[in-house]
Amino acid sequence: MFDVGHANGSSHGGARVTRSAYFEHPDYVPLIRWSTEHIRALEREVGESLMELCGTLLLAERGADLLTSSAGSARQFGIATQHISRDDLRRRYPHFDLPERFVGLLEPDAGFIRVEPSLAATQRSARERGARILDNTKVTSLTSMDDGVLIRTNREDIRAGAVVVCAGSWSSELLPEYRPWLHVTRQVQAWLSPPADGAPSLSPESLPCWLIDRGAAAPVYGIPSDPSDPNRGAKIAVHGEGVITTPSAVSRQVRPEESAALQALADRWLGPTRSTLETASVCLYTSTADGHFIVERSRHGPRIAVVAGLSGHGFKMAPALGHAAVELALHGRTSLPVNFLSRRGRAPFSDDARQS
Ligand SMILES: Cc1cc2nc3c(=O)[nH]c(=O)nc-3n(C[C@H](O)[C@H](O)[C@H](O)COP(=O)(O)OP(=O)(O)OC[C@H]3O[C@@H](n4cnc5c(N)ncnc54)[C@H](O)[C@@H]3O)c2cc1C
Repeated sequence: MFDVGHANGSSHGGARVTRSAYFEHPDYVPLIRWSTEHIRALEREVGESLMELCGTLLLAERGADLLTSSAGSARQFGIATQHISRDDLRRRYPHFDLPERFVGLLEPDAGFIRVEPSLAATQRSARERGARILDNTKVTSLTSMDDGVLIRTNREDIRAGAVVVCAGSWSSELLPEYRPWLHVTRQVQAWLSPPADGAPSLSPESLPCWLIDRGAAAPVYGIPSDPSDPNRGAKIAVHGEGVITTPSAVSRQVRPEESAALQALADRWLGPTRSTLETASVCLYTSTADGHFIVERSRHGPRIAVVAGLSGHGFKMAPALGHAAVELALHGRTSLPVNFLSRRGRAPFSDDARQS
């Protein structure tokens, strides 16, 4: 409903982490693999590099759940990972200032996806296959009919054989039945200046994507600077902890105290790089109560499928989620293993959580 490539939702800001040794749940691993293969195929098709495989490094206290669950996924699916001792962390990654009990788990074949180039390449490829992309067009209602779905927009009515709704933070505006299931939160992502002279480099040759487990506090993570995006430095952000909002009410201005809080995190964890915050922007998470996505056929109509609640970790799996949703809308079943992402057997947010 905005210009293609807008920054009002959840899919802007240079880079998104992709990793396969998934601590969130091993059932995501086949979806990540499928998606990575298809991003690779898109790279070949458009002749562009859309992913940087600089590795991902999870940092946590020895024995932390984050490390054991990721190592478990890696074992189950034969994903290459390396345990990094405290001494090796100090030697190989002098960027960090870590507590004594911290160790690392490196996944060398993981890394980051280039967001804007990937979306542009996807759209080009879709157009070449006959897709019509309507920017600045708002869907106002979906009505299930005997032979498909009537889509009403602010410009025209469209009769479709089947529909996939992937409306991000606006999902419950379009499909109110999802309101108790989805929380939209305001997240701030920031980019750092190049490190001071003589300080460890923040480029992908020397720094993987990283995530630090802070126990009860939400994890802090970062992405190295992208050599193909020289206007943006390395990224730092907190995964979670955002204030509940709506896409129409949210302020998209970053406040000075929010920048100061992220600078304090850079000072605390990346102290040796002596980096300063250069820019920051607001992005939205749309999360479910259990942090798992919703991918299912809608109760609104058999020819409507929904992808929602990507809970701050969905970008890396977008190709698989899209493919599964298309199959669900067209045929009522999919060859991809997404049954665990339907709402069956899961709970929405409690009233208390909704009001907080
Ligand atoms: C700061 C931040 C960091 C993240 N980091 C990672 C990461 O490292 N790895 C990872 O895998 N994921 C990450 N994510 C999550 C990932 O980026 C999101 O899950 C994903 O981009 C969400 O895509 P989406 O299509 O659901 O939503 P969006 O990209 O917001 O798209 C929804 C679209 O629907 C359109 N729309 C909505 N309603 C209507 C309507 N009525 N009519 C017409 N159009 C409509 C909107 O205009 C919008 O373009 C991160 C997210 C954020 C915010």
